[in-house]
Amino acid sequence: MKIELNGKVALVTGGTRGIGRAIVEALANAGAKVAFTYRSSTEEADALVAELKGRGVEAMAHQGDAADSDAANEAVKLVLDTWGSLDILVNNAGITRDGLMLRMNDNDWNSVINTNLKSVFNFCKAAYRPMMKQRAGSVINLSSVVGVMGNPGQTNYAASKAGIIGFSKSLAKELGGRGVTVNVVAPGYVATDMTAALSDAAQEAMLGAVPLGRPATPQDIAGAVVFLASDAARYITGHVLHVDGGLAM
Ligand code: NAD
Repeated sequence: MKIELNGKVALVTGGTRGIGRAIVEALANAGAKVAFTYRSSTEEADALVAELKGRGVEAMAHQGDAADSDAANEAVKLVLDTWGSLDILVNNAGITRDGLMLRMNDNDWNSVINTNLKSVFNFCKAAYRPMMKQRAGSVINLSSVVGVMGNPGQTNYAASKAGIIGFSKSLAKELGGRGVTVNVVAPGYVATDMTAALSDAAQEAMLGAVPLGRPATPQDIAGAVVFLASDAARYITGHVLHVDGGLAM
């Protein structure tokens, strides 16, 4: 079944590479107009916008730190001023600052919580009123298998990703009556720059526990996001969709 998002307006945080980029491309392929945010890689952002426009997709990029509420407000305002609505919000931006807790400092903790969790609050807050007024909208937040199962060396990351799950269920209950769905995608081990930084031993150990026997591609994650953004998922809210090859069962 080909999922159609024709005419829908989407905003994705952290869209220049990895899973975010695959989500931008998949939403565009399904017919959506797509805006994405990026923190510093202007060249990659401009190239992606040009590539999408070259394919006839309405696309734009907004520079800003997702942890900054002003940047989130500006990005949402830009989308509303340009396209008149915001139908799909995907909170994808995320970082890791791994280390055993004994050696984890305040900056490791704060930067991960602010980038991964506060950013979700920032963008959902900015989108709350417009989606409530539209009486429609799909919010999809990227968590992680680590937020469900835990992982040594990732207390900060696990806390941020578990926080996203509780946040999303609460917001799903707040906004359900307004026709807005809020769901979570929890990827397992995905081949991106984020996991390339892991040691070979850590990558092999993770892969050994994946029943499907391979890492996810960013496109595997993007497919689940497009599904949750579509009318096919209109009766699904507050759900955590594990896209992990069976890792977390
Ligand atoms: P990545 O490092 O390849 O890309 C992350 C993106 O987020 C980049 O475009 C980066 O510029 C952007 N970003 C980071 N901090 C930002 C900020 N403050 N403001 C704006 N943008 C910012 O990572 P990825 O693997 O593509 O991960 C995407 C999401 O999926 C993250 O939330 C991550 O936690 C989650 N995830 C990844 C995996 C995996 O195995 N790769 C597994 C589970 C969950």
